[in-house]
Amino acid sequence: MRPKHEVQLADRVARAAEAALAAKSFVSATDILVGVGWLDAGALERWRRGQIDFLERAVQANLNRISEAMRLFRSWAAANSLSESETAYVSRTPQRQTLRFSVSGDASIEAAYRTHWVSPELSARKRERLAEKASASPELVVVLPRNKDWKCHRCGRSGDFLMMEATGPACLQCVGLGDLEYLPAGDALITRRAKAASARYAVVVYFSRNRSRYERQGLLVEPKALAEAKGSVDLDGQRRVPG
Ligand SMILES: [Zn+2]
Repeated sequence: MRPKHEVQLADRVARAAEAALAAKSFVSATDILVGVGWLDAGALERWRRGQIDFLERAVQANLNRISEAMRLFRSWAAANSLSESETAYVSRTPQRQTLRFSVSGDASIEAAYRTHWVSPELSARKRERLAEKASASPELVVVLPRNKDWKCHRCGRSGDFLMMEATGPACLQCVGLGDLEYLPAGDALITRRAKAASARYAVVVYFSRNRSRYERQGLLVEPKALAEAKGSVDLDGQRRVPG
């Protein structure tokens, strides 16, 4: 018989895995860590933004328990005939560096963490599309600060927008996005076209005190993409007007 605490952990891991699988047809190690209550979603998000050097630092359990949970997760996945899909994890920063999970940084441990387990019920095509989407770089997020007293931790200057980095807020010039232009939300068509035409873009958010969360305000896009988008929409408008 297995020790009681292990049986309990196996149940918690299985429940977390089943919930994630039902919601999105695959399960990741981070789903398990969040699902068993060892990792809060806020910390996970900070890690994805490159503000936490490795994920295990933010997990509220010791390394033995974490590896036990990961072992239980893999045996659950095998027992349920899920298929493995190794996924890229890159940070939500302009540098796009590979995110690190473990204290040790050991290659096989990192690979195990990056592995997503996919439902066998999905067709090969759907599995492929899911894998592509999961490996895609996450959107960059830029903050519209509440007050302008902030200072860039790199150059000491301030600005209209900032990007949170591990060591503090940075200005757009220092993160290499200084050339982008702000497009406030409002015109869905222009937004969609400008985003599609811009090789680099970032989502602009503002912290709402009432709702205690970040809300989307618009995009930062390349000036050329913005001009093209506006031009194409104007042109559509002229075509629609009967002449
Ligand atoms: Zn700066």
